[in-house]
Amino acid sequence: MNSKLYDKLIFELSHPGCQGFSLPKNEFGHYTLPEEQRRQEDAQLPECDELTVVRHYTNHSGNNFGVNNGFYPLGSCTMKYNPCINEEVAQMPAFTALHPAQSEESCQGALEVSYKLQQALAALTGMADFTLNPFAGAHGELTGLMIIRSYHQSRNDEKRVKVIVPDSAHGTNPASAAVCGLEIVEVKSTTEGLVDVEDLKPLLGEDVAAIMMTNPNTLGLFEKEIPEIAQLVHACGALMYYDGANLNPMLGACRPGDMGFDVMHVNLHKTFSTPHGGGGPGSGPVGVRKGLEAFLPSPHVEQVDGRYVVDHSHFNHVGAYLGNFGIILRAYTYILSLGKTYVKQVGPLATLNANYIKECLKDVYELPIAGLCKHEFVFDGLKDKSTGVTTMDVAKRLLDYGYHAPTIYFPLLFHQAMMIEPTENESKQTIDGFIAVLRKIAEEARLTPEVVKEAPHNTPISRVDDVLAAKHPILTYKQLVHDDN
Ligand SMILES: *Cc1c(COP(=O)(O)O)cnc(C)c1O
Repeated sequence: MNSKLYDKLIFELSHPGCQGFSLPKNEFGHYTLPEEQRRQEDAQLPECDELTVVRHYTNHSGNNFGVNNGFYPLGSCTMKYNPCINEEVAQMPAFTALHPAQSEESCQGALEVSYKLQQALAALTGMADFTLNPFAGAHGELTGLMIIRSYHQSRNDEKRVKVIVPDSAHGTNPASAAVCGLEIVEVKSTTEGLVDVEDLKPLLGEDVAAIMMTNPNTLGLFEKEIPEIAQLVHACGALMYYDGANLNPMLGACRPGDMGFDVMHVNLHKTFSTPHGGGGPGSGPVGVRKGLEAFLPSPHVEQVDGRYVVDHSHFNHVGAYLGNFGIILRAYTYILSLGKTYVKQVGPLATLNANYIKECLKDVYELPIAGLCKHEFVFDGLKDKSTGVTTMDVAKRLLDYGYHAPTIYFPLLFHQAMMIEPTENESKQTIDGFIAVLRKIAEEARLTPEVVKEAPHNTPISRVDDVLAAKHPILTYKQLVHDDN
């Protein structure tokens, strides 16, 4: 048991009868709840004074690890720095005091931001138009699939009920297809980790609505066969969907619209530097190629005679109002602060950083797929398997050295997967420091494996039993009340 006062749970700091608030005298009388809706017993709530509550949560917030604390190479998540200027703009009262239901005339500036972000995303991806309404990447996928369904329905092509998803896809792809009421068909990867065109061919037919592709894919590899895949998919009457959550390495290098994709989403909370982690706040704008604009959801911001208007005439709706506006502001600020010149360096620098780490470590960590990667790559654990030190042990030991662990045991194609994504933001010094620590851990694994196997040693909580936690999860706090009376 940790003796530090503020490592305790708020329930453990509770003193019966203690209050952190006072309410004015009730002058309005009471509304009595019907008997069946009343509690049988009082709720077990912590009773603390205000200052104890403030200290408790302030001290706990210091236990968080974010990109502002240290290097955060979490593969597939693009944990890039959220520049301070984004926050400054998002906190401007001119924006924070807006109400989503106020008239178009009274919020032309905000509509201009939305419109111009739609335009900027279209220019960066090669799409014709965007909606900013979806609230996450997965929500964008669902919106994109709804658009594809609407397109097929508008042509009375109702038999297209299947979506092809590669075996390396992010789990949200099949999930979104299922939520959209579509059937999922898996296409296999080749030994090089790319979509297998020969496996794809027999799957294509009149019942296919779309293929969902991620490029670079979840292994960080560029899908080289996309022109041929696009040609085959279009020839069978289906559409190409691009999962652009991993757009980062493409910025400045190439555009999904030019590769033949018809519908796509991007995650503003990855490529466009808005905060994420812990489930939000997200934004997953969806873009469509020319000819599909009418299928974008309502409401949609448009420009008519120099004024910004909100078009409500489209038929799909995916969320209230115009999306996550605070996040839209941050992403637009990020794009403007980079400008046309520097936005083009994002992809190349992210790619360079990933390849540098990979090359510097591949003599001690197992590299299952050699060659150039994009913004991320996968190691299959330590090269020397005789030490018994696993990817989990290495990840835990990294915490002792002040680094966030990479993504581990994903993708599922490798048993000891360790997926590293440095992003373009990190300096060479930071990256060299990370490389040195991973080399040191490899040496520890050889000389003193127990130190790695028992890590972490310096964090507030040491190694937890994750098998026990998965098999017997304790999801609610059980109060240990000692009734002394
Ligand atoms: C992150 C990610 C998603 C899901 O995005 P959310 O905003 O978490 O819903 C989908 N696909 C890929 C490839 C991703 O990396």
